[in-house]
Amino acid sequence: MTNINTASCQALLTWMKERVKKIVILTHANPDGDALGSTLGLHSVLLNIGYQSTVIYPTDFPSLVPGLEKYGNWVVFEKQEQEAIRLLEEADLLFFLDFNDIKRTGKVAKKLEQLSTKVVLIDHHPQPMVETPFLFSDTKVSSTAELAFDFIAKMGWMDQLDAAGANALLTGIIADTASFSHNAGRPELYEAASRLIAKGANQHRIQESLFNTNTADRLRLLGYALSEKMKIFPEYHAALISLTREELKKFNFKIGDTEGFVNYPLSVKGIIFSAFFLENAEKIKISFRSKGGFAANEFSALHFGGGGHHNAAGGESRQSLDESVEKWISLLPHYSQSLEKESMAED
Ligand code: 5GP
Ligand code: MN
Repeated sequence: MTNINTASCQALLTWMKERVKKIVILTHANPDGDALGSTLGLHSVLLNIGYQSTVIYPTDFPSLVPGLEKYGNWVVFEKQEQEAIRLLEEADLLFFLDFNDIKRTGKVAKKLEQLSTKVVLIDHHPQPMVETPFLFSDTKVSSTAELAFDFIAKMGWMDQLDAAGANALLTGIIADTASFSHNAGRPELYEAASRLIAKGANQHRIQESLFNTNTADRLRLLGYALSEKMKIFPEYHAALISLTREELKKFNFKIGDTEGFVNYPLSVKGIIFSAFFLENAEKIKISFRSKGGFAANEFSALHFGGGGHHNAAGGESRQSLDESVEKWISLLPHYSQSLEKESMAED
């Protein structure tokens, strides 16, 4: 069971039939596997029904969904801003997927603030900040893709979910659970995965496109990050990795190359809290991962202007890389009790 309310779906369905032709689907900047999978899954269903649907991605993205070219029309805002603005202005309905706050759409946010178009929000992050009667938010589900699957079922659109749509949704699920390794305890998740495979999703191709597309450069960057740049603070059950722009350049860094790096320190026995600092042109982007009761999203919101999930969050810093890292290290003693407590619980 998810929080997707059948009565709200009925109301939405009636309204869509009467009023809606053009739809724009939006997700967060730097879209990950779940953002891409959930948007393309819903998009393909809407196209099959006959809606004029377009996905707008705030920024460019790696090709994580197998057979991406099949999904047709999407627009990258940072590359085709005029076209994206035209589509947003003409849309009868907007779908917001995999984000809880329009700030997460980066440069698109300014345009969204000017629009009064109806919005459907489908998301699994805590504290949705978007006001709409069509708020389908559920933090217990594995992924937005799983929630989108349930939404499609409750809207009565299962017949329009084809193999390409199923493939995209299963990509989102597998990406956000790291192949069913976290947020993966609910039986309904496996029912959804099973139904997607029955619809033609190709589990093997998804695994290949999500996890077996390393370049030699990326693998060497990971090796370097782990051997030279990982710092462990055993007394605080914490660890970090940081990478400078120069280091990234040395390994021919491409967007997405450091995806998942933050998880490696967390796999060291006894580590409860991991941080990854990436220096880019304007700011330091930080990823946080934690185990058990330690709230990575609260830590990020309090100290690094970010948020996210309880155990997987992100934030940023406008200080230098060294200063940002020092700030994080200096905060650890303040959390030593809760980190110690979680490490005992994990044992
Ligand atoms: P990642 O570390 O993979 O970039 O992000 C982990 C989680 O935190 C994702 O679910 C993402 O939605 C969220 N997140 C990442 N960066 C930010 C940020 O700057 N602000 C907020 N509110 N959430 C973020
Ligand atoms: Mn997600």
